[in-house]
Amino acid sequence: MTTHSNYQPVHVIGGGLAGSEAAWQIAQSGVPVVLHEMRRDDASGKVTTDAHQTDGLAEMVCSNSFRSDDWQFNAVGLLHAEMRRCDSLIMSAADQHQVPAGGALAVDRDRFSAEVTRRLEAHPLVTIERGEIAGLPPEANETNGWDNVIVATGPLTSPALAEAILELTGEGQLSFFDAIAPIIHFDSINMDVAWRQSRYDKEGPGGDAAAYINCPMNKDQYEAFIDALLAGPKSEFKEWENVPYFDGCLPIEVMAERGRETLRHGPMKPVGLTNPRDPLVKAYAIVQLRQDNALATLWNMVGFQTKLKHGVQAETFRMIPGLENAQFARLGGLHRNTFINSPKLLDKSLRMKVQPRLRFAGQVTGVEGYVESAAMGLLTGRFAAADRKGAPIEAPPGTTALGALVEHITGGHLEGGQGGSFQPMNINYGLLPPLETPKVDEEGKKIPLKERGRAKKRLMSLRALKDLEAWLGA
Ligand SMILES: Cc1cc2nc3c(=O)[nH]c(=O)nc-3n(C[C@H](O)[C@H](O)[C@H](O)COP(=O)(O)OP(=O)(O)OC[C@H]3O[C@@H](n4cnc5c(N)ncnc54)[C@H](O)[C@@H]3O)c2cc1C
Repeated sequence: MTTHSNYQPVHVIGGGLAGSEAAWQIAQSGVPVVLHEMRRDDASGKVTTDAHQTDGLAEMVCSNSFRSDDWQFNAVGLLHAEMRRCDSLIMSAADQHQVPAGGALAVDRDRFSAEVTRRLEAHPLVTIERGEIAGLPPEANETNGWDNVIVATGPLTSPALAEAILELTGEGQLSFFDAIAPIIHFDSINMDVAWRQSRYDKEGPGGDAAAYINCPMNKDQYEAFIDALLAGPKSEFKEWENVPYFDGCLPIEVMAERGRETLRHGPMKPVGLTNPRDPLVKAYAIVQLRQDNALATLWNMVGFQTKLKHGVQAETFRMIPGLENAQFARLGGLHRNTFINSPKLLDKSLRMKVQPRLRFAGQVTGVEGYVESAAMGLLTGRFAAADRKGAPIEAPPGTTALGALVEHITGGHLEGGQGGSFQPMNINYGLLPPLETPKVDEEGKKIPLKERGRAKKRLMSLRALKDLEAWLGA
């Protein structure tokens, strides 16, 4: 570690999970960094967001869990392992202050945040400035360092900065709410029941007349499904979220409340589709799935944004024929979340194309979760420091969990519409290029059928760590 530096500083706006990690990575590479955090609790009063409680850096606003720590069989565990190999401050503080949580990495949130704050405050190349950047960062001059900025202001980016970003990027490029339909792993869909067809066999822009996966329901199945939707517990909006219902993205249970037939005339309408296994029988309702990523490993449930509690979502959606064993890459939701249209706005090193001095990191880029946000802070910190040193670096390959997240936010989605298929997302194996499912293990022994999915995940994790080591060594 260098203790003094002739470089101009890099500025990081936001001292959450992403900004704290970014600041650490920059300072550890020998470049000075100024971390701007608007939360404070001092003689001048208390400033916070609607969700944060303290003025600590890297405050975890809700759960105290970084989720599974299993690098072999779980994508977020793999991301932990990759970040540890990259000298992550967030992972190191989490490891130091973990509390018992089975296979998950959970932490004492106060000690964790205090540790991150202490280590950044103690770093000779880190300056922490408490104050809001209430608009676009100041103009750069030859010495102030504002030519190299990371914006890591999170899902609750202050309104003044959010408005400035909106003005810079244009209408429709910044979302304030996240209306998410569930996303399913392709290999968990029963294609003996479902079939591929576009409504009225209409060809899409790519010339595909069978772009959707269709799951048919008879009347009894539909009625039972509506009953489950109406009975299932729903999450309430927090008072401050003040989420409006937009036309075109009403939660499905709200549609069902408006009338038992509403869904059959909306997202579940059966017209223009014929079940090739039963062509003479018209389905009573049909659920459509649309390809969600370029790899075609993930499919979203069209029009199925929902406020059903996570616990009952999987159970309810598995009532749909063809989805009995569905594995969800993410469940549905509708909540306050500020994020930019990254696939359109950012380049591969997460710089804003219209103003490349600005990099974006964390939840505001459209990744989801503490670990993923910190991971994007880690990469932008490395990118920004490398630029400052005049030796730019590329993102890790898409076969790593870190690289797969970059691919997701900068281009792994499909084109078309306002933001294409882009939606905020946690890391999952569906974001990594698939591998052939192995039939035999390393010793040539046959792997039982039900264990092959796990074996494939392990191979993908091993590939990721190997490729990450090569990237680190490059
Ligand atoms: C209510 C709620 C509950 C959540 N629960 C979970 C959960 O249980 N698990 C999970 O994994 N994820 C959860 N999330 C998502 C969570 O916010 C992210 O995972 C993570 O905190 C994002 O990290 P970040 O660094 O991008 O943003 P944050 O951690 O929010 O950090 C952003 C920082 O920027 C500061 N800031 C904002 N604007 C400015 C400005 N203009 N100038 C200076 N500073 C500014 C903020 O004060 C904040 O400290 C939740 C989000 C919300 C809103």
